[in-house]
Amino acid sequence: MDGTVVTDRTAETVGADGTAGRDALNAAAAASAAEGSRSEALRTLSRVFGYDTFRGEQQAVIDHVVDGGDAVVLMPTGGGKSLCYQIPALVRPGTGVVVSPLIALMQDQVDALRALGVRAGFINSTQDFEERRLVEAEFVAGELDILYLAPERLRMQGTLDLLSRGTVSVFAIDEAHCVAQWGHDFRPDYLALAVLGERWPDVPRIALTATATPATHREITERLGLPEARHFEASFDRPNIQYRIVGKDDPKKQLLRFLREEHEGDAGIVYCLSRNSVEKTAEFLERNGVPAVPYHAGLDGGTRARHQSRFLREEGLVVVATIAFGMGIDKPDVRFVAHLDLPKSVEGYYQETGRAGRDGLPSTAWMAYGLQDVVQQRKLIQSGEGDEAFRRRAASHLDAMLALCETVQCRRAQLLAYFGQEASGQKCGNCDTCLTAPETWDGTVAAQKVLSTVVRLQRERGQKFGTGQIVDILLGRKTAKVIQFDHDQLSVFGIGDDLSEAEWRGVVRQLLAQGLASVEGEYGTLVLTDASATVLGREREVLMRKEPKRPAGRPKSERTAKGERKQAVDLPEEALPVFEALRAWRADQSREQGVPAYVIFHDATLREIALSLPADLTQLAQLPGLGEKKLANYGEAVLKVLADHGRLEAGTALEDDSSSSGAESPSGD
Ligand code: ADP
Ligand code: ZN
Repeated sequence: MDGTVVTDRTAETVGADGTAGRDALNAAAAASAAEGSRSEALRTLSRVFGYDTFRGEQQAVIDHVVDGGDAVVLMPTGGGKSLCYQIPALVRPGTGVVVSPLIALMQDQVDALRALGVRAGFINSTQDFEERRLVEAEFVAGELDILYLAPERLRMQGTLDLLSRGTVSVFAIDEAHCVAQWGHDFRPDYLALAVLGERWPDVPRIALTATATPATHREITERLGLPEARHFEASFDRPNIQYRIVGKDDPKKQLLRFLREEHEGDAGIVYCLSRNSVEKTAEFLERNGVPAVPYHAGLDGGTRARHQSRFLREEGLVVVATIAFGMGIDKPDVRFVAHLDLPKSVEGYYQETGRAGRDGLPSTAWMAYGLQDVVQQRKLIQSGEGDEAFRRRAASHLDAMLALCETVQCRRAQLLAYFGQEASGQKCGNCDTCLTAPETWDGTVAAQKVLSTVVRLQRERGQKFGTGQIVDILLGRKTAKVIQFDHDQLSVFGIGDDLSEAEWRGVVRQLLAQGLASVEGEYGTLVLTDASATVLGREREVLMRKEPKRPAGRPKSERTAKGERKQAVDLPEEALPVFEALRAWRADQSREQGVPAYVIFHDATLREIALSLPADLTQLAQLPGLGEKKLANYGEAVLKVLADHGRLEAGTALEDDSSSSGAESPSGD
């Protein structure tokens, strides 16, 4: 880091002496300085993090920020955003200040960095005065590489003054989409962050997010005051996540089947809309032998912290949560994210599903979706707070989400298109519509039947009813309610016996999704929209999605509990026992130290160790995820696990030999 400064000074001295063209020398010096910081960045990557090469845009981002430039970075979850600011923080002189919205995770983030030998700390409201003072002193003394702060801290004059007393190398604004007022995670405190650029114009700032439509992207740039920033946009594709959206009939049972068939023993997140359904679903899973805990804003802080901590520390725990859970969770081995209710926007859906598979190993984003979701969300928007403009926004967010649910095209292509990106092909091969193509059918006549029933009720009777009654009328059912209102006298009574009840509900759902009908009021009564007339007037066709009889899933051969684990880490059969031995050792370490297992080593690192079976520290040091500090802390212990395991194997092999020769000898005789 100091090399840069020295080179600059040398150039100036030489230039002032007039011994060489000053400009040329300066340019050469700048180039060599840039070269120097580049190799410094690479050295840091290998020494601290144990990785050999940068991924995707990382190198470009890091070079730019190390050189003092501002950056806006859009990179999907798991893409490697952290290194984009951690390395500049380590390479540039001073402390990197990271603004992050979730104080509950700061301790874990700091623990993970310390495990790598990085001098990290945080200041937030969970600390007592003494603890805070200690970190502040370390910062002022220049003894911290990285300091985490919550955005609300930066509203306090005291915090700004503190920062002035030390040296800040870079400001990193994580989860930068929180500044977007119309976004799903808006945090007013983020609006105050523009002050950083005004007060520290020479300190580079880097804003990072894993979700941004073009509109959010613009808001980030404007509101954080980053007009000069260079923009880096990685592909938002998460190829290891399999996207699936299934028709909802009995969601809890469907979830259980999904977990049993594909994710036995895996860690995952289940999202529900209401606190009540969170509680009920968690209980249901527990009762059925799936370890699960609830998480929502109605639980007290202690319980929430405990459940989050268990999720991070234990293997194979399921968290059932409202959207209050998950942002910033950097657990790498979340194997599935399930939605039992429809998310409010595609951005929210992408953000939530993105929490699966940060380690790049196969994972599933699974959702159950039905008519009731559409009715409920439309009702929520109508009865919710906010002005007309707010409602219009919410409705267009919902429409995009519904379009994703109802699409007969590749889900991934549609998701990427929403973020203004193109998929690499028409079909990804790893979403439900690619795996089992849904059929479409011409639903024009069915749509007309539903809509004319709505029209009849309204024109002839001045009545509005919900979907249930309309389906009963179409099916010609003489229910008590049908009799009560004389609905069997309507000319449309019984005109729909060509479809089943479920199929009619599907028709109504798709009409709602396509904006060809709408719901109204407390009871969600069905009403026409402006677009309904085009259907009734035969001006347009209505194409509908037919649910595949057998929804797509992973092939049966991959579905056993053990098979799934093996498939997730993709190991040959013979490497599995040693992998499991390493995992057991890691679990002990994690328990002893009270840190999550992935803070010790990621699955991906254990996998490499199990595959290459290093014989000594030098060989071990070559593997990804083994920086200086981890090698020093755990190197010997890992070699011992391998040696013990090897002896055990040799022992078993001997026994096998003797027993098999014993078994063979009688027949051989
Ligand atoms: P994000 O914050 O974008 O979700 P992370 O920074 O947590 O992603 O990185 C995701 C995973 O990828 C982590 O396990 C990290 O250690 C790993 N990773 C990041 N960059 C590299 C790299 N250059 N080489 C190898 N692994 C990397
Ligand atoms: Zn696809």
